Amino acid sequence: KAKQEGRNRFCFFSDELGQRIFQRHQQEQSLRDAIYNNRLEVYFQPKVDLQTEQVFAAEALVRLRDKNGTLISPGDFIPLAEETGLVVPLGKLVLIKACQQAARWLKHGFNLSVSVNIAAAQFADPDLAKLIEQTLMESRLPSALLELEVTETALIQRPEQTAEVLQRLRAIGLKIAIDDFGTGYSSLAYLKRFKVDVLKIDMSFVKDMLVDKSDYEIVKTIISLGRSMDIDLVAEGIETEQHKVSLLELGCPFGQGYYFGKPMPADDFMQFIVDKRDLK
Ligand code: C2E
Ligand code: MG
Ligand code: MG
Ligand code: MG
Repeated sequence: KAKQEGRNRFCFFSDELGQRIFQRHQQEQSLRDAIYNNRLEVYFQPKVDLQTEQVFAAEALVRLRDKNGTLISPGDFIPLAEETGLVVPLGKLVLIKACQQAARWLKHGFNLSVSVNIAAAQFADPDLAKLIEQTLMESRLPSALLELEVTETALIQRPEQTAEVLQRLRAIGLKIAIDDFGTGYSSLAYLKRFKVDVLKIDMSFVKDMLVDKSDYEIVKTIISLGRSMDIDLVAEGIETEQHKVSLLELGCPFGQGYYFGKPMPADDFMQFIVDKRDLK
C-alpha cells in the first residue's frame, strides 16, 4: 500500500510539474508572439521639475496588448522576459519606439528627453552600445535626449563589461540613471566607479516618507548623497502634494508620480503637455 501511495504521490508531483512547464511554455510563446507581432505598446510618464511642475522628460514604460485586446502591465511579463532572454528583443523595440517618439516631439518643438529601462541581460549583449548609437542615428534623436535607467542589480551582474558600455555611452552624451536606488545590493563604491548622472529614489521610500521616520531619513540621506556627489535626483512615486513639498524642502529637484501624471500613450502625453502650457 505504501508503495502504491508513493507511486501515486510521484505521479501527482510529476503531473503538476508537467503542467507548470506547459503553462510556462505557453506564456513564453505568447510573449514571443506579442514581441514579434507588434503588440508591445510604449507608454510615457512625465518627469517634472518639482519647483515649477514643468515637464522636462518622459519615462518609456512598456505594456503588452494580449490577443483579447487587454493591456498587460510589465510587472506581469518582465520577469518572464528576463528569465527567457526575451527582454533583449523587447528592450530593443522599446528603445526604438521611445527614440522615434522623442524625435517626433522634438520635431513638434517639444524638447523632451526620454528615458528607457535597460535590463541586465541587455548589458550582456556586446552590441548594446552599437544598437543605441544606431538607433539614435536612425531616429535622428540627439544623444543628450536619451537617458538609460539601469538597476543596481544590473550594474553588479557584469561590472567590468557594464562599466565599459556605460562609459562609451556617456562619452557620446547619453545620461545614465540608477533606477530604484536604495533597494538593490550595490555598495556606494559603485557610485564612484560607474559615474552616473541621476539617482532615482525608489518609490517604496517616498510612499511612506511622511509617516515613517526611517523612510524619511533614507530619502533625506539619498538626496544629500546625490547633492554632495553632484548627481541629479528624481523621486519616484509622488502621489500627493505633501510628498512634493517635503521632497522640495529636502532639496530634491525632480520627480515623477501619479500626482503629476500616470504613464500614458504618446498622443495623450503630447496633449497633456499642451494642456499644461495653456493653463499658464
Ligand atoms: P520602474 O522603471 O521603476 O518604473 C516606475 C513604475 O512605477 C511604473 O510602473 C510606473 O507606472 C509606476 N509609478 C509611477 N508613479 C507612481 C505612483 O505615483 N504610484 C505608484 N503606485 N506607481 C507609480 P510600470 O509601468 O508598471 O512598470 C513597472 C516596472 O517594469 C518598471 O519599474 C521597470 O522596472 C519595468 N519596466 C517597464 N518597462 C520596461 C522596459 O521597457 N524594459 C524593462 N527592462 N523593464 C521595464
Ligand atoms: Mg524606470
Ligand atoms: Mg523605479
Ligand atoms: Mg522598479
